[in-house]
Amino acid sequence: MEVARKLLKQYFGYDEFRKGQKDIIESILNKKDVMGIMPTGGGKSICFQIPALIFEGVTIVISPLISLMKDQVDSLNIVGIPATFINSSLSTTEYRNRMMAIQNNKYKIIYVAPERLESEAFIASMKRINISQIAIDEAHCVSHWGHDFRKSYIKIKDFIDIFSIRPIITAFTATATEEVKKDITVQLGLKSPNITITGFDRENLKLIIVRNASKQKFIVSYIEENKHVSGIIYCATRKETDKLHTLLSKLGYSVGKYHAGMSESSREKSQEDFLYDNKSIMIATNAFGMGIDKSNIRYVIHNNMPKNLEAYYQEIGRAGRDGEKSECVLLFGSQDIILQKYFIEELGDSSEAVKQNKYEQLQRMIDYSYTTSCLRKHVLNYFGEERADEKCDNCSNCSDYLEKKDMTIEAQKILSCVYRMNQRFGTNIVTKVLKGSHAQQTDSFRELSTFGIMKECAVNDIKEYINVLIADGYLKMEGDKYPIIKLTENSAKILKENDKVYIQTIKHKEVSENEGLFEILRQLRKEISVEENVPPFVVFSDATLKEMSSRYPISKAQILNISGVGEVKYEKYGERFIDEIKAYIHNNNLDIDNMKSDTKTYTSHKIKETNKEASYITTANLYLNLRDMDAVVKERNLKPMTIQDHIISAYMEGFQLDINEFIPKGQESFVLEAIKKVGTEKLRPIKDLLPEDVSYLTIKAVIAKHKL
Ligand code: ADP
Repeated sequence: MEVARKLLKQYFGYDEFRKGQKDIIESILNKKDVMGIMPTGGGKSICFQIPALIFEGVTIVISPLISLMKDQVDSLNIVGIPATFINSSLSTTEYRNRMMAIQNNKYKIIYVAPERLESEAFIASMKRINISQIAIDEAHCVSHWGHDFRKSYIKIKDFIDIFSIRPIITAFTATATEEVKKDITVQLGLKSPNITITGFDRENLKLIIVRNASKQKFIVSYIEENKHVSGIIYCATRKETDKLHTLLSKLGYSVGKYHAGMSESSREKSQEDFLYDNKSIMIATNAFGMGIDKSNIRYVIHNNMPKNLEAYYQEIGRAGRDGEKSECVLLFGSQDIILQKYFIEELGDSSEAVKQNKYEQLQRMIDYSYTTSCLRKHVLNYFGEERADEKCDNCSNCSDYLEKKDMTIEAQKILSCVYRMNQRFGTNIVTKVLKGSHAQQTDSFRELSTFGIMKECAVNDIKEYINVLIADGYLKMEGDKYPIIKLTENSAKILKENDKVYIQTIKHKEVSENEGLFEILRQLRKEISVEENVPPFVVFSDATLKEMSSRYPISKAQILNISGVGEVKYEKYGERFIDEIKAYIHNNNLDIDNMKSDTKTYTSHKIKETNKEASYITTANLYLNLRDMDAVVKERNLKPMTIQDHIISAYMEGFQLDINEFIPKGQESFVLEAIKKVGTEKLRPIKDLLPEDVSYLTIKAVIAKHKL
C-alpha cells in the first residue's frame, strides 16, 4: 500500500485515500475480484487506476459512454499516465494507430465501449497483449433491474472468458440494490468478489425540496443568484426542456440544452460548451449527464420529480464531485406524479412484474418528496444505510432554508372565481377577471362577485397562486392547446373545510462566492484549458483552486502540498499559478506570515495587511496631485480596484477629498435606486442593474457619500 499511496501523491496530488478506496485497492493488489459501490463523486476511478499503474501489463476499462472516456483519458494524460480510448468516434487511421501503439505496450490504461468487445479483430489483438485487470465502470448497466440496462454489458463475460490467464475483474457502480448486486456478480462472473460499499452520504450536497412554488419563477431567481457558477436543470420531457431553454435564453442567461431529440452534433456542442465553462447552465432531460464527470457543478435543479430514488440520487450526484458545497433542488408538483405514471403505462413495453416494480419505486420517490423528516436520513435509509442522527442540518427539512407563506385566502378567491366562471376558461382569463381587468374578454364577467376580488395583487402573483393550486391538486388543467382550469375533488377542502395552502419561497443565497484570488485563478485555469483543449476542471478542480486561494502557495513545495497538485501538473502549470498568487499578494499588500515552506502547518497562517493606513493615504495624496485615477494606478502599480478602495477608505477616514468628483452628473439617483432594490452587501448585483457606463468607483462613492 505504501507504493499505492506514493503514486496517489505523485500523479494525482492527493495525500490520502478516501473511505473505501484503500480497501478496494488492497483487494485488487491481492489479486481478488472486487465490486466497489460508491456514490457518484466518491472516487471510483482511482480505485482501478492506481492498481493499473502498479500491475505489469494493461488495464482495460469498460465504460458506457464515449464522452466520459475522453475526459477520463484527458485527465490521465494530463497527469502523465499513458492512457487511450478505443470507440466509434475514431477515424480508421486513428483507430489503427492506437491499436498499433497498444500492441507496442504504449499504454497502461485503455478505455473501451462494451460494443467493441464483440469485434473479432479487437478480441484477437487483446489476446496478444498482457491484460492484468478488466475494470467495469457503471457496472449496474449489466442488470435489467438497474436503470440503465445496456445489452452489450451482458457480453462482457464472454470477453473475459477468452483469456487463458484470467485478469482480475473489478466492477464499479454508484447505485446497487440487492438485485443489481446479484446480477453484477452473476452476469460478470465475478469470483467470490470482495464487495465494498462506502457510505452513500454526500455531505457536501444540500438537499432541498420545494413544493408549492412557481417552478419558472423559482428557477429564474435561483439562477440569477448563481449566475457565475455551473448548474444542471433536469426536465422530465423534451418539450419542457425546449420551453425552459427558450425562456432562459430570452432572459439573457448563458444556457445550453441537451435531449435525445437533438442531432448528435448539436448535443455534442452543447455538452462541450458546458464542460468548458462557456455556458454555465445546462437544461436537459435525464439523457444528459452519465457521460460527463465535470467536477465543478454547483447545483442540480430537478424541474420535475424523477422516476425513482436511484435516478434522483445519481442525477443529484453530478453536483459537487470536487467535494465543494453544492445544492440539489427538487421542485415538486403533483402533476409530476401523473406524468411518471403515464411514462410507466404508455411508454414502456415492460411486463406486469416490471411495471409493478416501477410503480413501487415511484411511490418511494413520492414518499421522499412529501416527507417532513430529514431528507438525507430518508434517502440514505432507502439505500440501506442507517443514520444515527435525526437531523443533518443540511437539507430543507432540517434547516430554515425555505419560507412558507399562507395563501389560503387567495386560494379561496381563485377557486370560487373558477367555479363562478363555470370552469370553462384558462389561466389568462381567470386572472384578468380576478384582477378586475376591463379587457374585452372579461365583458361577460363584470357582474360576478369575484370580478376584481384580487385587484390588489400583481398579475404574475395571481398566476403563481394558480400554479401552486394546480401543483397541489386543488385545480387541474384540461386540454392541450388552450388548456382550461377546473376544480378537483380536493377543491372543496379549501372552500368548505379547513385545508390550508402554503406557498414556499427560498431564502436566497449564493451557493458559492467567487471573488478575489479564486476568480483570478479560475481565469488562468480557463486560459490553460483553451491552450490544452481540455475542460477547465481537468486542469484543476474548484476544490484545488479554493485551497490555493486560501493558502497562498508561492513556492514549489507549498504548491505541491495543495490537494490536487501532482508532479506533472506542477511542472506544466505550477509556476503560472504561483506567479498569479504572488501578484495578488503584492497588489493587495498582503503579508503572509507563519508560512513554513514545506509542511502543512501554514494552514493556520494569518494574513495581515501591512501599512494599510500609510498605503491608502499615499494613494489619496497622489490623487490630489495628479487628479487622474489611471495615472495613480500606474504610479502605484496596484490594481484599479485596490486604488478605488484606498480612495474610498481615505474619504471615510475624513481625508479631504470631494467624493462628488467620482459621481458623474445624473448617475447618483440611478445608483441609489439600484441599492434600494438589492442592498449594498455586494457590488455586482448593483452594477448589473445599472447602465454599462456607471463604474464600480461611482457605486462605491455613492455608498460612502450616503453612508449606506
Ligand atoms: P466517481 O467516478 O466515483 O464518480 P471520480 O473518480 O470521478 O468519482 O472522483 C471524483 C473526484 O474526487 C475527482 O475530482 C477525483 O480527482 C477526486 N478524488 C478521488 N480520490 C480522491 C482522494 N483520495 N483525495 C482527494 N480527491 C480525490
